[in-house]
Amino acid sequence: MGQPAGTITPMMAQYLELAEEHQDALLFFRMGDFYELFFDDAVQAAAALDISLTKRGKHLGEDIPMCGVPVHAAEGYLLTLIRKGFRVAVCEQLEDPSEAKKRGSKSVVKRGVTRLITPGTLSEDTLLSARQDNFLAAFTTVRDDAALAWCDMSTGAFYVSTCAPKALSPQLARLAPKEVLISDSAEPALDQQIGETGAAVTRLSAVNFDSTSAEARLLEHYSVASLDAFGTFSRAETGALGAILSYLSITQKGRLPFLRRPVREASEQAVSIDAATRRNLELTKTLSGETSGSLLSTIDRTVTGPGTRLLTNRITNPIRDLVVLERRLDNIVWAAENDPVRAHLRSTLKRAPDLSRALTRVSLGRAGPRDLLAIRTALGVSNDISKALTPFALPEQISANARDMIGHETLLENLTKALDDNAPMLLRDGGCVAEGYDAELDAQRNLRDDSRSIVAGMQAEYASLAGVTALKIKHNNVLGYFIETPATHAERMMAVPLSETFIHRQTTANAVRFTTVELSELETKILNAGAQALAKEKEIFDQLCTEVLGAAAKLHLTAQALAELDVTTALAELAVSQGWTRPELDTSKTFVIQNGRHPVVEAALKREGKSFIGNDTDLTRDNGQSLWLLTGPNMAGKSTFLRQNALITLLAQIGSFVPADAAQIGLVSQIFSRVGASDDLARGRSTFMVEMVETAAILNQADEYALVILDEIGRGTSTYDGLSIAWATVEHLHEINQCRTLFATHYHELTALAERLNYVVNATVRVKEWDGEIVFLHEVIQGAADRSYGVQVAKLAGLPLSVTQRAQDVLANLEAENRKGHPGGIADDLPLFSAQPATAPTAPIVSKADAFLEKINPDDLSPKDALELIYKLKSL
Ligand code: ATP
Repeated sequence: MGQPAGTITPMMAQYLELAEEHQDALLFFRMGDFYELFFDDAVQAAAALDISLTKRGKHLGEDIPMCGVPVHAAEGYLLTLIRKGFRVAVCEQLEDPSEAKKRGSKSVVKRGVTRLITPGTLSEDTLLSARQDNFLAAFTTVRDDAALAWCDMSTGAFYVSTCAPKALSPQLARLAPKEVLISDSAEPALDQQIGETGAAVTRLSAVNFDSTSAEARLLEHYSVASLDAFGTFSRAETGALGAILSYLSITQKGRLPFLRRPVREASEQAVSIDAATRRNLELTKTLSGETSGSLLSTIDRTVTGPGTRLLTNRITNPIRDLVVLERRLDNIVWAAENDPVRAHLRSTLKRAPDLSRALTRVSLGRAGPRDLLAIRTALGVSNDISKALTPFALPEQISANARDMIGHETLLENLTKALDDNAPMLLRDGGCVAEGYDAELDAQRNLRDDSRSIVAGMQAEYASLAGVTALKIKHNNVLGYFIETPATHAERMMAVPLSETFIHRQTTANAVRFTTVELSELETKILNAGAQALAKEKEIFDQLCTEVLGAAAKLHLTAQALAELDVTTALAELAVSQGWTRPELDTSKTFVIQNGRHPVVEAALKREGKSFIGNDTDLTRDNGQSLWLLTGPNMAGKSTFLRQNALITLLAQIGSFVPADAAQIGLVSQIFSRVGASDDLARGRSTFMVEMVETAAILNQADEYALVILDEIGRGTSTYDGLSIAWATVEHLHEINQCRTLFATHYHELTALAERLNYVVNATVRVKEWDGEIVFLHEVIQGAADRSYGVQVAKLAGLPLSVTQRAQDVLANLEAENRKGHPGGIADDLPLFSAQPATAPTAPIVSKADAFLEKINPDDLSPKDALELIYKLKSL
C-alpha cells in the first residue's frame, strides 16, 4: 500500500479493528471476489490450506503476510479449516463499493463480521456430514447441580439433562458433540476431559451461563411467559440451555436458527453405556476407527441422511422405556409383514431430501433456491407417503407419523407453482422462480430476453405510423436506442403531427435520428429489466422463505416423521432379509437367547460364503444361572459370543428385531463390556492400569439390572495376581452386583467357582482335536474347557515350527512338573485355593537331547552321520 512506516491505510485500520474483536478466529476479510487473510491469520491459513502466502503492503515498517481464497470456492477451504480445529470469522462487504465511492474516492467499503463459523455451528451441507448429527453442547454447574444441554443447529434439535460431573465423559461419549461450551470460570481440568472426547472446547464468560438471564433469553426466544410449558428445569439446566442460545446468537450475529422447544431427557430411561463399552462394542466405529465393520454400518438399511442420523442416535441411546420400545417393535412388525408397501415406502423415501437442514438454512437467512426445492420435494414425498398409508390399519406410531406428514397443501402448492425445477444454486444467478408465477417478473424477463423482438415490433409499428418503410430502430453506445430514417424523410418526420411522437436527436449526412418517449422508456426498462428481474425473484424468494418459516414447527414434525418411517422400514427390511425376530421384553431380570448370532461377524462370514453358528444363552437367576464363566481355546469364538449377547440386548433396547430365533430380555439398565489388555497410552495408563480402572468402574457401578461382559480380565499382570483378581471379581459380581454376567477367561482354575457359587455356570466353546490339529466348532456348551490349545492356535497363526514344537515341549514339562508336585492339578497349587504354600512353576527343563541337538547343523550331516545321530539320541 506504500504508506510511510507508522501510518496505516483506512482499510487496514478497518481490518485491524475487526481482527481485534475476533482474536480467537481466523478473519476471512471480503475484498471483491476474494476472502483475504492477513498477518498471522494468513500464515496459519496458508499452511493449513496449503495455498501460497504472499504479501501486501507494509504495517509498521514490516511486510504484511497475505493469502486469499476465492469466494465461490470458500466452503471447501472453510471445511478444511474447521476440520483442523480453526474457527473462522467471516467478514463481508456490507454495501456496494459504488456506495462507498459516493462518499469520496478514499472511502472504505463498509464491512462487518456476519458470522462466526465454529465446529458446533455449521449449517451448510458441504460442511456437514449427512449421516451424522452435529451437536453443540454446553456444560455448567450450579453448586451441587450440573447439567448438559445440546443442540444440533442444523436440524433444530435441542435437549438438556442433569449431568453429574462424573457422568460428563460418558454423556459426551454418547453424544459425540463437535464443540462444548463451558464457563471461563470452570476448572482448568475440564478442557482436557472434554478434549479427550474429540470435541473442541470453547470457554464463554460466566454471564452466558447465569440461570436468571438465561431464563430471560429462553422466554424471549420462545415468546413464552414461563418455561413451565416445556417442563421443569433446574438452575443448571436453564443455564446450560441459555448458554447455547447466547453462543448461537454470538456466532450467527444475532440471527438465531429455528430451534425446537428444549426437551428434558430423562436419564432414568436411558441405558447407561460408558465410553469404553461403546468403543469395545464397535457401535458406530470399529476399534481401528473405521465406520465400515461397525454395528451401525452392518445394520443400516436407511435410505435418507436424516434416517441414518436417527438410527445412529438410537444405537447410541438405547432405552428402557417398555412402552416406547413395544411401540417401535409394533411398527417393525407391521412394516415387515407388508412387503409391497414397505418396498414402495422405501423407494419413495429415497427421493426425500434433508428437510430439517434446508429449513435451518432458511431460518438463518442462508438458504438458496435449492433449499426451497428440497423442501418442496420433501413435502411432495410426504404427501405421497401419507396417501400410500391411507388404506392400511396402522400401528399407533406410524399413523401419528402419517398425520405429521400432511397439512402443507398450500405451501406445497405455492412452492410448486413458484419454483423453477432447474433453479440454480445461487439466487443471484437468476432463474429460481418459474415462468407464469408472477406477471411482472415475466414481463421483466421478456424485456431482458426478448428486447430484440420487442424492438422489431416497435419498428414495424413506427414505420407504418410514419409511412416510412425505411425507418429503422438502431443502437449505439452513445445514443443507446434510436430511430433512424434516411435524410430524405427528415422534413416529413419533423412536421406536426409526427413530430409530436418522434423527438429529433441528431442529423447526420445521410440520416436523421429520433427517439420517442416509449422508446426511451423501453431502453431504461431493458437496461433495468435484468436487475429488476433479479430483485423481483429475490422478493418472491423472500416471501416463500417467510411462508416456510411460518410453518417451521410443523415442517420439523414432518421431517421427524420421515426420518422415523425411514428407520422403521429400514429395520423391518433388515429383520426380513436377515431372519431376525422380535424380542420379548419385560421388566424382569430374564435373559434367555436361543440361537443368538453376532450381526457383524455373521454378515462378514456370509460375504465369504460361510455360516455363523448360533448359540443359546441363559443368564436368568431364577433359572439358577446369572454368571457364565466361559473357557475355551483361543479363536474358538468366546469374544464373539460375549459381544453378540451385548449387541442383541442393545438392538432389543433400541426397539429393533434381533439376530436370534428367540430372545426374552428383562430390560437392562446398563451395559458394560470390557476386554482385558488394551493400552491407553495417550492417557498415560499402562495396559494393566486401564484394565483395573475399568474393572473398578464396573464393580462400583453395575446394578442388579446391568449386563456385564468381561473378556479376559486380569491378563495384564503375572498369572497369580491376574488369577486372584479375576477370582475376586467373579465373586463380587455374583454376590454384590448380582447382575447378568458373561465372563470369558483363560484361567481354567476359575471353573472351580461354579461348585461354590450358586448362580455361576461353566460354559465352553467346543473344539475337536484331530491329528494334532484343532477344529473350531464355535458351539457354546455347558462345562469347562480342559485347556487353551494356545500352542495349536499359534501354529495356525504361522509361528515357526521350531517355536511351536519347542513350546509344546515346554508345556508338557510344565504340566508334568505341576502334576508331580501337586497331584490335585494346577488349581490346587495356588495359595488362593489351597492351604499349601505356593510353588511357582520351575524354569523349563532343557533335556540332554535338546542340548545335544542344539549343536547339530542338519545341513552338515551325511546320511551316515544322521543315522549315527539317531543312535546317539536314543542313548541320551
Ligand atoms: P481369543 O481368545 O484368541 O480372543 P476368541 O475365542 O475370543 O479368541 P473370537 O475372536 O470370538 O475367538 O472368534 C474368532 C473367529 O472365529 C471369528 O473371527 C469368527 O470368524 C469365528 N467365529 C467366532 N464365533 C463364530 C460362530 N459362532 N460361528 C462361526 N464362526 C465364528
